[in-house]
Amino acid sequence: MPYCANCGNEVNREDKFCFRCGAQLMKESEQKESAKAETMKEELRKTGVQEGQPQTSQTVTEHEYATMNRRDWITLAIAVLMIALVVWTVHVFGG
Ligand SMILES: [Zn+2]
Repeated sequence: MPYCANCGNEVNREDKFCFRCGAQLMKESEQKESAKAETMKEELRKTGVQEGQPQTSQTVTEHEYATMNRRDWITLAIAVLMIALVVWTVHVFGG
C-alpha cells in the first residue's frame, strides 16, 4: 500500500487524492518521472554554469592567441624588412 507523501496516511493505489489531507497523490512511476525531470533540470542548470566559465576563458585564450599571432606577423615583417635592407645595402655598397 502506498502512503500519502504529505501526511503519511495509508492510501489506495488508485486514489488520486489523499482522503485524509486532500493532497494530490502521484503514482510511483509519476513520482520517478518527476524526480527524473527535476534531476535533469538540476543537471542542465549545473552544466550551464560549468559551461559558462570555460567559454569565457576560451574567448580570452582566443583573444590572446589572436594578439600573439598579430605580434608574430609584425616581428616577421620587421625581420623581412631588415633582411631586405641588408640585401639592398650589400647590393648597393658591395657590388
Ligand atoms: Zn494525506
